[in-house]
Amino acid sequence: MGKKGILIVVSGFSGAGKGTLMKELIRTREGFALSVSATTRAPREGEMHGREYFFTDRDRFIEMIENDELYEYAEYQGNFYGTPRSFVDERLSEGLDVILEIEVQGAEKIRKKFPEAVLIFVTPPSVSELVRRLTSRGSETEEKIRGRILRAAEEAEYISGYEYVLINDDLDVCVEDLLAVVRAEHTTRMRKTEELEAISEELALYRKGELEL
Ligand code: 5GP
Repeated sequence: MGKKGILIVVSGFSGAGKGTLMKELIRTREGFALSVSATTRAPREGEMHGREYFFTDRDRFIEMIENDELYEYAEYQGNFYGTPRSFVDERLSEGLDVILEIEVQGAEKIRKKFPEAVLIFVTPPSVSELVRRLTSRGSETEEKIRGRILRAAEEAEYISGYEYVLINDDLDVCVEDLLAVVRAEHTTRMRKTEELEAISEELALYRKGELEL
């Protein structure tokens, strides 16, 4: 069996900067694949089908659910979002670490389905910084910003299901921390079972006298 990648879930408040973090990671490091989700929401300016999302209509999305083509899906702000199985499976078996940038309910489903997945939550250093970032976009009404803060309060209740928290203050530090988490996860005993078995078997041969120096 070849080296299998790790499934990494990244969630965070809107305004935490996880999109920028993911882009920086993919741009500067190898060995990662960012999963492309299916969604029923309309493309935003500059978004491309197959790159940011697979944009689909509701009927096709429901068909994907019924055909069991998705590992998880959730409704967020009146639209469906889901993780296609095939992409994730292919990349993991190529040995890539696959990142799912998904919201908290989807993350919970992944945690139940894949207990070995690594869940990471990204947050700004404080709520006032979150408010500042949301306000400085300049494009959103006060009501929308308030809505995002209230949703952040709901999402915060899910943080206990995450193993790691990245405080996104400085982007480069945040990328380094993310890499440190992934590297550490690659060295857990559970992910070294094949190597450890081979070592035990060989040591047993010495013990039995079937192998000599
Ligand atoms: P946006 O519409 O801003 O691109 O994404 C809205 C939210 O949906 C974000 O929190 C994003 O992480 C989440 N999201 C994107 N793809 C998926 C997915 O496949 N499954 C789930 N559960 N959430 C997703």
